[in-house]
Amino acid sequence: MEDCIFCKIINGDIPSAKIYEDDKVYAFLDLGQVTKGHTLVIPKKHARNMLDLDEETASELYKRVPKIANAVKEAYAADGINILNNNEEIASQTVFHCHVHLIPRYSKNDDFGFKWKDNSNTYSQEEFLKRAAKISALIPS
Ligand code: AMP
Ligand code: ZN
Repeated sequence: MEDCIFCKIINGDIPSAKIYEDDKVYAFLDLGQVTKGHTLVIPKKHARNMLDLDEETASELYKRVPKIANAVKEAYAADGINILNNNEEIASQTVFHCHVHLIPRYSKNDDFGFKWKDNSNTYSQEEFLKRAAKISALIPS
């Protein structure tokens, strides 16, 4: 897609620190290096984000994630790795070509450190089950 920096990276029009490529997927170091080895894995087929991926592209993308993530984790002997993806601006997406972040973790106090808030004391069991049913009803078979 024209005007997409990640499509330009795939096409070799702008440089990247490539770590893996095949016919479906491209992986390269994130310029920001939140932690050492921070990598992005992207489908070669342009999609705005994960919400726009067709099933085949999603499957081709995710089936390669474990082997790439294991290499990223192993390279500098990380103790774990966060694998995540941001969709739309409110969710911190800044580049609108679908990408999966691989962020190796070396310490709880590194530059990625954050903690989920546990809100389990703020709703009833009934409300909890209502949420599940509402979402479930929206998933196409
Ligand atoms: P997100 O905020 O989830 O959309 O992530 C976009 C990521 O792309 C950020 O972590 C940026 O550091 C990274 N990024 C932007 N431009 C480049 C580039 N030319 N090469 C490598 N990483 C990039
Ligand atoms: Zn693109």
